[in-house]
This record gives sequence, structure tokens and C-alpha cells, in this order.
Amino acid sequence: MELARSDFYLDGHWVPATGGETIPVWNPTTEQVVATVPAGTAADVDRAVRAARAAFDGWATAAPADRAACLDRLHATLTARVEDIARTVALELGTPLKVATRVQAGLPLTVLHGYVDLAAHPPAEQTVGNSLVVREPVGVVGAITPWNYPLHQVVAKLAPALAAGCTVVLKPSELTPLTAYLLFDAIHAAGFPPGVVNLVTGTGPVVGEAVAAHVGVDMVSFTGSTATGRRISHLAADRIAKVALELGGKSANVVLDDADLTTAVKVGVANAFLNSGQTCTAWTRMLVHRSRYDEAVEIAAQAAAGYRLGDPFDPATRLGPLVSAAQRQRVREHVEKGLVDGGRLVAGGPDAPVPDRGWFVAPTVIADVDPDSALAQEEVFGPVLAVIPVDDDDHAVAVANNSRYGLAGAVWSGDEDRALRVARRLRTGAVDVNGAPFNPLAPFGGYKQSGLGRELGRHGLEEFYETKAIQR
Ligand code: NAD
Repeated sequence: MELARSDFYLDGHWVPATGGETIPVWNPTTEQVVATVPAGTAADVDRAVRAARAAFDGWATAAPADRAACLDRLHATLTARVEDIARTVALELGTPLKVATRVQAGLPLTVLHGYVDLAAHPPAEQTVGNSLVVREPVGVVGAITPWNYPLHQVVAKLAPALAAGCTVVLKPSELTPLTAYLLFDAIHAAGFPPGVVNLVTGTGPVVGEAVAAHVGVDMVSFTGSTATGRRISHLAADRIAKVALELGGKSANVVLDDADLTTAVKVGVANAFLNSGQTCTAWTRMLVHRSRYDEAVEIAAQAAAGYRLGDPFDPATRLGPLVSAAQRQRVREHVEKGLVDGGRLVAGGPDAPVPDRGWFVAPTVIADVDPDSALAQEEVFGPVLAVIPVDDDDHAVAVANNSRYGLAGAVWSGDEDRALRVARRLRTGAVDVNGAPFNPLAPFGGYKQSGLGRELGRHGLEEFYETKAIQR
């Protein structure tokens, strides 16, 4: 198997894993194993943390320009490998190649580029009365990441952590480790000092828990499900280690009665189905004023029916498979429950045709969803959109905020001031008005059970500093 990897990246070298066990990497389109990677152990994590600890003082006190230069070389190395990145993500996750190139590869490169600049310009020291207030890197960071944006989620942690002067141990998702190996090939080529950034692959319960529980890890930065985030918080709490959590979402797309309905609904459907719906910020609940509701449901159903499912490497494909058989099973169960709970199927559903092979789910739109039902409350993580009627702006805000999550959302209106008034009332970390573009420099993160802390841009960098007051 030419893609198979057998080493971890520790202390600046590729070194064999201590245990002999491996984890299969699946191609979700062919349902075949395409590679294996080593299943790490707590002993591997310990070696990685020791390497990161030993490298910390040197990296923390390096000149900001030197840290920026390392990140810049990494950016250049990865930029030369955009096609490889996109193909690797298409292979192990199933994202269609065009989206993989633009989003899965393009977005992290933009984020990384932003941190080259921020690394060179760390926060200034401040004087407060007789105190000098200085910022210092937190220390050794344990980064634990999911599979849905396998390069972006990693870069969103590594780049700011390294820019701040922290050293890192990464545990990527066991479902998409090949993208992480590709990143570490580039890290090796970029010439970071040994130990500054380390890779251990393995399962969550073994390697993830060993990272979260290690006394030598000063901060755990995690992206993944809310359930795992809770477990990681418990482990880190034993030693009062800092945690940053980017968790699940159930974001609302609020379509007001004066919106450009066709655009609002079509963009809303595309957002909900991006990456086969496996996006934490996906607008999975579409809230539409009753006066425009039937029209909106019709547009959504037509848009969903136009999606072409298939091989991510086929340029005509708009929707790939889900990442795993287990994920497909979960999504199917959510759809079935949504229909039992009174939802009205208007596109896709359990009987819609999908390719014979591969873990596909047909793009599905369910109307008349009860805002308190499981389909409106639980994160589905598949191409499933719930449409919900609302009476007026106040009702829209109440339904949107009726969620234990608070990650993202959208508002559409012909009157931007009205949209902004609604946007301010949504209890979420981000709101897009009238389809505004994603801003990779803006803070990203969740209210409520969607997380703690912020990623991206200067806010993301700030997470990786301690603050010290020196009185004189
Ligand atoms: P997951 O929580 O199962 O796994 C995420 C990572 O945690 C993986 O590397 C996994 O191996 C590890 N892990 C699992 N159990 C662990 C444990 N007990 N201790 C330590 N580590 C453990 O999530 P997933 O299925 O990989 O990803 C999907 C979830 O991620 C969704 O809920 C989604 O909303 C969320 N997500 C959030 C964001 C965000 O920025 N808010 C971004 C992407 C994904």
C-alpha cells in the first residue's frame, strides 16, 4: 500500500511507532482500505510531549521574525502541494475535488498566510500604572482535531500556537490522517527546530485521552463533537490546564419576508450541503416567514434535487459520500426520526437513489420541522436541511436561539439595518448577513455548547498567550 505510513514525527525526525498496531484508512467512495497508519500509545504521546517540552524555551524566546520565517516556508511548501492536498482530502474524506481545492486546501493556506504576518507582530507590551503587562506563550499545546476539514482544523491551531511561541503535539482524526502526514512532510521540509511540532496518530480514547491528560501539556486545543469536548475538559480540569474548544452546531438561516428569496434559499441549501453537510457551521435549520414559506420550501426542494452525487474525482460531482459507514447510519437514523416526528419530506429521503457503492446520503430537505424535535435540536452532520416556519422577527429570533448550540447563523433581508438588528440578537459566535463572504481573519467560535475561546486571526492568536504583570 503506497500510501501507508508507519512513523510518527517526533523531535524533528520520522521515528517508528512503539506499538505494532495499525489503523486502516478508508476511501468512503469505494469502501476500500487505501492505507494504514500507526495506532499510537500513551508512551508515544509521552515521547512527543517530552520533545515539545524540551523545545519550548528555545522556540518561546526565538525572535518573532524567525518564527514568522518558519511559517512562511511552511506556507510556500504547502502552496506548491495544493493539488496533493486536495486529492488526499478527496480520497480519505470524499470532498469533491473542486471544493477540496478551493476550501479544504485554499482556506488553510489563507489562514496560514495570515499568521505569518501575525507571528512577526506579537501583541505589544503595555504599561498599566506601575505594572508592565507582558504576554508569554502558554507552553506545550496538545491539539486534537476532527476529520471534516482535516487540514484547516489543524492549521487553525498549529499556526497561531507556533506564531505565539508555543510548541505542539498534534493528534489528528484517525479517519483522515493522510492529510496530516502530508502537512508534516511540509513541516519537515520547512525546517522547524526539532521538537517544536510533533505528530502522533491514533484513536481518541487512547492517544486523544493521553494528550488531554498529560501533565506536560499546558493547553488542550480541541475541535470535534460536544461530547468529546466535555470529556477533554474533565481530563484537563484535573490539572487546571487551559482548554480551547470548537464544538458542534445547529445554526439557523433566518430568511425574513423582504429577503431576495431565491438567493437566500439557494445559498442556504448550498451552505447546508457543503462537504456533504459535514460542516460544523452548516445552516441546518432554515427559518422562513410564513408569508414566503411555501415558496421557499419549493425553491429548496428544487435546489436539492439538482445536486449530483458521485465520485469526488469526477468534475461533475457536487456531493461526495459521507466519511464513514457509521456516519451514514447516524444520518439515516436522524432522517427517519425526523419523518416520524412529523417532518414533511420534500427532497431526498431514505428511498432517494444514491450510487451503489460508497457511503452516500441523498441531499434531503424536510419541511414543517417542529423546532423542539430532535431534527431541529441535534447535529446531524449530513446533507439534511430542516425548514421551519416563523411568524415574525421576534419569533425567528426565539426559534433560532432555541438551541443548546451557538456557533454560526445567517440573516437575509432587503433592509440591512433590520438584518443587523436580528443578527445582534442571535446567541451565536458568528452571523452572516445577506450571504457575506467568510472572513478568515475574523474570530471564529461558539457560544453555549458550541465551544470555548476563539480561533482565527488575532483573536485566535490571543488564546495561546499567558498574561504577566511585572510591578516596578
Ligand atoms: P469527535 O469528537 O469524535 O473526534 C474529534 C477528535 O477527537 C478526533 O481526533 C478523535 O480521535 C478525538 N477523540 C475522540 N474521543 C476522544 C476522547 N475520549 N479523548 C480525546 N480525544 C478524543 O468528532 P468528529 O466526529 O471527528 O468530528 C465531528 C464533530 O466535530 C462534529 O460535532 C462537528 O460539529 C465538530 N466540529 C466542530 C468544529 C468547530 O470549529 N466548532 C469544526 C469541525 C467539526
